Amino acid sequence: MSQSPHEINRLREQIALHGKSLFDRGLTMGSSGNISQRLEDGGCLMTPTNACLGRLDPARITRLDAQGRVLDGDAPTKEHFLHRAMLEERPSAGAIVHLHSTHSVAVSCLPDINPCDCIPPLTAYYVMRVGTLPLVPYHVPGDERLGDAVRGLAGQHSAVLLANHGPVVAGKNLDAAVYATEELEETAKLFLLLRGTNPRGLTPEQVDELNARYPRD
Ligand SMILES: [Zn+2]
Repeated sequence: MSQSPHEINRLREQIALHGKSLFDRGLTMGSSGNISQRLEDGGCLMTPTNACLGRLDPARITRLDAQGRVLDGDAPTKEHFLHRAMLEERPSAGAIVHLHSTHSVAVSCLPDINPCDCIPPLTAYYVMRVGTLPLVPYHVPGDERLGDAVRGLAGQHSAVLLANHGPVVAGKNLDAAVYATEELEETAKLFLLLRGTNPRGLTPEQVDELNARYPRD
Protein backbone atom coordinates (compact mmCIF):
# COMPACT_ATOMS: atom_id res chain seq x y z
CA MET A 1 0.00 0.00 0.00
CA SER A 2 1.25 3.50 -0.67
CA GLN A 3 -0.05 7.03 -0.52
CA SER A 4 -1.03 9.07 -3.56
CA PRO A 5 1.34 11.80 -4.81
CA HIS A 6 -1.21 14.30 -3.54
CA GLU A 7 -1.09 12.81 -0.03
CA ILE A 8 2.70 12.74 -0.06
CA ASN A 9 2.82 16.38 -1.16
CA ARG A 10 0.52 17.26 1.74
CA LEU A 11 2.92 15.51 4.15
CA ARG A 12 5.85 17.45 2.63
CA GLU A 13 3.96 20.69 3.24
CA GLN A 14 3.20 19.69 6.84
CA ILE A 15 6.91 19.09 7.47
CA ALA A 16 7.74 22.54 6.07
CA LEU A 17 5.01 24.21 8.18
CA HIS A 18 6.13 22.53 11.40
CA GLY A 19 9.79 23.26 10.56
CA LYS A 20 9.04 26.97 10.15
CA SER A 21 7.01 27.04 13.35
CA LEU A 22 9.82 25.38 15.34
CA PHE A 23 12.41 27.71 13.80
CA ASP A 24 10.35 30.88 14.31
CA ARG A 25 9.98 30.10 18.02
CA GLY A 26 13.71 29.50 18.50
CA LEU A 27 13.38 25.76 19.07
CA THR A 28 15.92 25.10 16.34
CA MET A 29 18.70 27.29 14.98
CA GLY A 30 20.76 27.55 11.78
CA SER A 31 20.62 24.31 9.81
CA SER A 32 20.28 22.13 12.93
CA GLY A 33 17.34 19.86 13.62
CA ASN A 34 15.60 17.40 11.34
CA ILE A 35 12.20 15.81 10.83
CA SER A 36 11.08 12.51 9.28
CA GLN A 37 7.68 11.11 8.31
CA ARG A 38 7.00 7.42 7.68
CA LEU A 39 5.29 6.52 4.38
CA GLU A 40 2.93 3.61 3.82
CA ASP A 41 5.27 2.02 1.22
CA GLY A 42 7.92 1.45 3.93
CA GLY A 43 9.96 4.49 2.95
CA CYS A 44 9.96 7.93 4.53
CA LEU A 45 10.26 11.65 3.97
CA MET A 46 13.19 13.38 5.66
CA THR A 47 14.47 16.94 5.84
CA PRO A 48 17.59 17.45 3.68
CA THR A 49 21.19 17.91 4.79
CA ASN A 50 22.21 21.52 5.58
CA ALA A 51 18.60 22.68 5.32
CA CYS A 52 17.23 25.38 7.62
CA LEU A 53 13.94 24.16 9.10
CA GLY A 54 12.63 27.73 8.84
CA ARG A 55 12.93 27.80 5.05
CA LEU A 56 12.19 24.29 3.80
CA ASP A 57 11.13 23.88 0.17
CA PRO A 58 8.57 21.03 0.30
CA ALA A 59 9.64 19.78 -3.15
CA ARG A 60 13.27 19.36 -1.99
CA ILE A 61 12.42 17.31 1.12
CA THR A 62 14.08 13.92 0.67
CA ARG A 63 12.00 10.85 -0.13
CA LEU A 64 13.66 7.53 0.72
CA ASP A 65 12.50 4.05 -0.18
CA ALA A 66 12.26 1.16 2.30
CA GLN A 67 15.95 0.36 1.70
CA GLY A 68 17.03 3.93 2.45
CA ARG A 69 17.73 4.88 -1.18
CA VAL A 70 16.93 8.45 -2.26
CA LEU A 71 13.94 8.52 -4.64
CA ASP A 72 13.67 12.28 -4.97
CA GLY A 73 14.54 15.55 -3.28
CA ASP A 74 17.94 16.58 -1.93
CA ALA A 75 20.36 14.32 -0.02
CA PRO A 76 18.93 13.51 3.44
CA THR A 77 20.13 14.92 6.74
CA LYS A 78 23.47 13.52 7.92
CA GLU A 79 21.55 12.36 11.01
CA HIS A 80 19.27 10.10 8.93
CA PHE A 81 20.34 7.04 10.92
CA LEU A 82 18.77 8.47 14.10
CA HIS A 83 15.42 8.61 12.33
CA ARG A 84 15.78 5.18 10.76
CA ALA A 85 16.65 3.65 14.14
CA MET A 86 13.55 5.18 15.76
CA LEU A 87 11.18 4.37 12.88
CA GLU A 88 12.41 0.77 12.60
CA GLU A 89 12.25 0.06 16.33
CA ARG A 90 8.89 1.77 16.90
CA PRO A 91 6.33 0.45 14.40
CA SER A 92 3.62 2.65 15.96
CA ALA A 93 5.62 5.82 15.30
CA GLY A 94 4.64 7.83 12.23
CA ALA A 95 7.10 10.68 12.57
CA ILE A 96 10.34 11.64 14.35
CA VAL A 97 11.65 15.06 15.40
CA HIS A 98 15.28 15.72 16.39
CA LEU A 99 16.30 19.18 17.62
CA HIS A 100 19.23 20.89 19.32
CA SER A 101 16.73 22.80 21.49
CA THR A 102 18.52 24.82 24.16
CA HIS A 103 16.95 23.66 27.44
CA SER A 104 16.91 19.99 26.47
CA VAL A 105 20.57 20.22 25.45
CA ALA A 106 21.34 22.00 28.73
CA VAL A 107 19.85 19.08 30.69
CA SER A 108 21.89 16.65 28.56
CA CYS A 109 25.09 18.39 29.74
CA LEU A 110 24.39 18.22 33.49
CA PRO A 111 26.80 16.01 35.45
CA ASP A 112 24.32 14.59 37.93
CA ILE A 113 21.25 13.57 35.91
CA ASN A 114 19.92 10.02 36.06
CA PRO A 115 21.04 8.47 32.71
CA CYS A 116 18.03 6.10 32.81
CA ASP A 117 15.59 9.02 33.12
CA CYS A 118 17.01 12.51 32.67
CA ILE A 119 13.98 14.55 33.78
CA PRO A 120 11.69 13.63 36.70
CA PRO A 121 7.89 13.43 36.19
CA LEU A 122 7.13 17.08 36.99
CA THR A 123 3.81 17.34 35.11
CA ALA A 124 1.09 15.05 33.79
CA TYR A 125 1.51 16.13 30.15
CA TYR A 126 5.24 15.38 30.26
CA VAL A 127 4.47 11.84 31.44
CA MET A 128 1.73 11.44 28.80
CA ARG A 129 3.80 12.71 25.87
CA VAL A 130 7.38 11.78 26.78
CA GLY A 131 7.44 9.31 29.70
CA THR A 132 10.92 8.24 30.74
CA LEU A 133 13.86 9.84 28.93
CA PRO A 134 17.12 7.87 28.80
CA LEU A 135 20.47 9.54 28.04
CA VAL A 136 22.40 8.24 25.01
CA PRO A 137 26.19 8.53 25.52
CA TYR A 138 28.01 11.20 23.49
CA HIS A 139 29.19 10.37 19.98
CA VAL A 140 30.68 12.69 17.39
CA PRO A 141 27.98 13.93 14.94
CA GLY A 142 27.63 11.58 11.99
CA ASP A 143 28.95 8.55 13.91
CA GLU A 144 26.56 5.78 12.96
CA ARG A 145 27.21 4.04 16.30
CA LEU A 146 24.91 6.74 17.64
CA GLY A 147 22.16 5.11 15.59
CA ASP A 148 22.95 1.75 17.19
CA ALA A 149 22.80 3.31 20.65
CA VAL A 150 19.41 4.88 19.88
CA ARG A 151 18.20 1.58 18.40
CA GLY A 152 18.94 -0.17 21.69
CA LEU A 153 16.61 2.19 23.58
CA ALA A 154 13.93 3.06 21.01
CA GLY A 155 11.85 -0.07 21.54
CA GLN A 156 11.19 0.92 25.14
CA HIS A 157 11.19 4.72 24.87
CA SER A 158 9.39 7.13 22.55
CA ALA A 159 12.01 9.80 23.32
CA VAL A 160 15.74 9.70 24.04
CA LEU A 161 18.21 12.47 24.88
CA LEU A 162 21.59 12.48 23.13
CA ALA A 163 24.29 13.67 25.55
CA ASN A 164 25.64 17.15 24.74
CA HIS A 165 23.48 17.15 21.60
CA GLY A 166 19.66 17.03 21.88
CA PRO A 167 16.44 15.00 21.91
CA VAL A 168 15.07 12.47 19.38
CA VAL A 169 11.29 12.13 19.78
CA ALA A 170 8.71 9.83 18.14
CA GLY A 171 4.96 10.37 17.75
CA LYS A 172 2.11 8.54 16.08
CA ASN A 173 2.05 11.32 13.48
CA LEU A 174 3.98 14.53 12.85
CA ASP A 175 1.72 16.69 15.04
CA ALA A 176 2.19 14.29 17.96
CA ALA A 177 5.98 14.13 17.50
CA VAL A 178 6.24 17.93 17.40
CA TYR A 179 3.99 18.38 20.43
CA ALA A 180 5.98 15.81 22.43
CA THR A 181 9.22 17.58 21.48
CA GLU A 182 7.77 20.90 22.63
CA GLU A 183 6.55 19.31 25.88
CA LEU A 184 10.05 17.92 26.47
CA GLU A 185 11.69 21.30 25.81
CA GLU A 186 9.30 23.14 28.14
CA THR A 187 9.73 20.52 30.87
CA ALA A 188 13.52 20.76 30.50
CA LYS A 189 13.09 24.50 31.10
CA LEU A 190 10.96 23.81 34.20
CA PHE A 191 13.50 21.29 35.46
CA LEU A 192 16.29 23.86 35.15
CA LEU A 193 14.17 26.56 36.83
CA LEU A 194 13.47 24.22 39.75
CA ARG A 195 17.00 22.90 40.26
CA GLY A 196 18.07 23.21 43.86
CA THR A 197 14.50 23.60 45.15
CA ASN A 198 13.73 19.90 45.77
CA PRO A 199 10.48 20.19 43.74
CA ARG A 200 7.44 18.04 44.44
CA GLY A 201 7.00 15.93 41.29
CA LEU A 202 4.33 13.32 40.57
CA THR A 203 4.38 10.21 42.76
CA PRO A 204 5.05 6.75 41.24
CA GLU A 205 1.33 5.99 41.73
CA GLN A 206 0.35 9.12 39.83
CA VAL A 207 2.74 8.19 37.00
CA ASP A 208 1.34 4.63 36.88
CA GLU A 209 -2.19 6.00 36.64
CA LEU A 210 -1.21 8.24 33.69
CA ASN A 211 0.61 5.42 31.90
CA ALA A 212 -2.42 3.15 32.28
CA ARG A 213 -4.88 5.77 31.10
CA TYR A 214 -2.77 7.39 28.34
CA PRO A 215 -0.36 4.86 26.78
CA ARG A 216 2.21 6.50 24.48
CA ASP A 217 2.83 5.50 20.84
ZN1 LIG B 1 21.66 16.63 15.90
